[in-house]
Order: sequence, then structure tokens, then C-alpha cells
Amino acid sequence: METPRSRGGALITGASRGIGRATALRLVEDGYDIAINYLRSSGEAENVARQIEAKGRRAACLAADMADEEAASELFRRAEDALGPIDIVVSNAGITRDRLLIQMTEDDWDAIWYTDLAGPRALCRTAIETMSARGGGRIITVGSVVGSLGNAGQANYATAKAAVEGLTRELAVTAAPHNITVNCVVPGYITTDAVAHLTEAQVAAWYERIPMRRNGTVEDIAALIAFFAGDAAGYVTGQCVAVDGGLLARAGAGLHS
Ligand code: NDP
Repeated sequence: METPRSRGGALITGASRGIGRATALRLVEDGYDIAINYLRSSGEAENVARQIEAKGRRAACLAADMADEEAASELFRRAEDALGPIDIVVSNAGITRDRLLIQMTEDDWDAIWYTDLAGPRALCRTAIETMSARGGGRIITVGSVVGSLGNAGQANYATAKAAVEGLTRELAVTAAPHNITVNCVVPGYITTDAVAHLTEAQVAAWYERIPMRRNGTVEDIAALIAFFAGDAAGYVTGQCVAVDGGLLARAGAGLHS
């Protein structure tokens, strides 16, 4: 059977592993060619590319450091050079550098600030400029429940992720007249390499706080990203939606259950 025509290009940052990888594999099912950004994991990125190509779609692996604003901005253009028009940007790459604020170094602070906020801002700005001229597009950012809840040892991460939500809302208002939607997916506790360092006791403490008493999966996050990217979400913009097993709802409702 012939593969249906491509729906266009999607650029996903941090797509070599975890949520970004699952998003790449989800969006290819919806018919997109995929630009896979990564920092160091070239082998993993190539592996994702092979899976995309096996589905009859095009893939491009693009190394770029999202902590470098110029490289983040340039990434959008590189993705278009490789695949043609990019209609969907998923700003997913993110890191943590946990330490209590009183012990946190400038480097710990800056690493998160640039990777999780400044790089995404630069990428979104370039994407919006180009998409505006072309008549539309979709941008999906990735926040964290920690941006609303806060968490001991994560002042840098909580601040950057709260700011990602603010950035999302501002961009949504600015870009709406250009037929560009901007929404934020807010993951709760999702099993990936990013949380692999947590001890059994720390994981148990998260489960205790999560009303569904379990982790979410990368596919849970990818499904909401695919919704924001898809035709059904054309009138949805400026939204920050948690996929967290009820964690934020419980924080808002108190601790009775
Ligand atoms: P992983 O650690 O599993 O994967 C991180 C990805 O980001 C990798 O592809 C990595 O590339 C890439 N990356 C890291 N730093 C950079 C950089 N400077 N430039 C470009 N790419 C980079 O993370 P997750 O999948 O768990 O997290 C994805 C997003 O979801 C992040 O924004 C995170 O904050 C957010 N999130 C995750 C939660 C969770 O429970 N897992 C909870 C809440 C939010 P490489 O492989 O080359 O290192």
C-alpha cells in the first residue's frame, strides 16, 4: 500500500530519548516528517530516525544545544533546510540540576535557565516569525507540575518551568492573529531517564502524593502533544494542561484523600 502524502514537518527538541522520542514516534503516525533534535545521544537519535523512515516518512537528526540561544534559533532554519516547511514545533528538551537554593551554584542556575527557558524562547520566536509569514502553525511547549507546586532542591527548575507557562500564554496571544496556536503540556511524574536517579523512597513519596498512585508514561504525554498538534485543536490556544494523575488537582483541593 502506498504511504499517504506527508502532512508537513514537525521539529521536536530532545527527541533522542524519553518524552521527545515518544512524541516523534506518535507524530509520525499522524503523517509528519520529523526533525529530531538532540544534544549528545547521536546513536539514540539515529535509532528514532530509522523507526520513522521505516514508516515511510522522512527524518533528520539535528544536534544542537538548546542552552545556546543562537543555536536554538538556528535549529528551526536547519530543520526547514532538511525537511521543508515545519508546521509543528515541540519545545521539549529539558534538564534538572537539583540542589537546595542555599547550595546552588550560578552554573546550576544558568544551566536550567538557558536550557529550559532561554533556548525554548529563542526557538519559539524564530518559529513564530516564519510561521506567521506562512499563515499558521502549532507550537507546543513542555512545562512541569513543579512549576506550580515548587519542590525542595528545584528552585532553578521550578522557576524556569513556571516561566515556560507564562511564555506560552504570552506567545499564544501574540501569535493567535497569525493562525498559530501555542499550548503547554505539563507532565507529572513520568518514567524516563530524567527521574531514574530518584531513590525508591522518593518514588514512593511521589506515588503517595499522586491521586492515581502511579507514574504516567511517555505515551500519555505524547498523546496530548499530538492532540494540540492536530486538526481537532485548531481553536485551542494558550492552555497549560497537566497530565499528572490528579497531582495538581489534589494540591489545589487540600489533603483529605
Ligand atoms: P530525558 O532526560 O529522558 O530526555 C531529555 C532529552 O532532552 C534528551 O533527548 C536530551 O538529548 C535532550 N536534551 C537535554 N539537554 C539538551 C540540550 N541542552 N539541548 C538539546 N537537547 C537536550 O527527559 P524527559 O523526556 O523526562 O523530559 C522531557 C521534558 O519533559 C523536559 O522538558 C522535562 O523537564 C519535562 N518533564 C519531565 C518529567 C518527567 O517526570 N520525566 C516531569 C515534568 C516535566 P541527549 O539524549 O542528546 O542528551
